[in-house]
Amino acid sequence: MPKVQFKMKCSRCRKNYVLTTQRREILVCYECQKPYLDQPIEDPRMKKLFDIPEELYKENNFLRHIKANYQRFKTLSEKQRQAFEQTVQELLSESS
Ligand SMILES: [Zn+2]
Repeated sequence: MPKVQFKMKCSRCRKNYVLTTQRREILVCYECQKPYLDQPIEDPRMKKLFDIPEELYKENNFLRHIKANYQRFKTLSEKQRQAFEQTVQELLSESS
C-alpha cells in the first residue's frame, strides 16, 4: 500500500523540501543533515547497517533521522535498528 507523502520545507535552511510520510515539527533536508551523517562510525556492526546507497539517505528522511540519532547518542534500540533495516529493504524492492 503506497504511503501518502507530504512535502515540507526544511526547518533549518528553509529552502529545500523534504518528503515525509509523517507530519513532524522538525524536518531537516539531506544537505543540512549531511555533515552529521558523514561522521565516521567505529562500531563495525553499525557501520555495516548504515552502509547503504547514498540515494536512500537522500530520499528518505526516516533513514537520515535514525543515522543522525545514532551519531548523536552512539546507540540504537533493537526496534530502531529493525525499522531501519525494514525501510531499506522496502526502498530497495520498490526501486528494482
Ligand atoms: Zn535544509
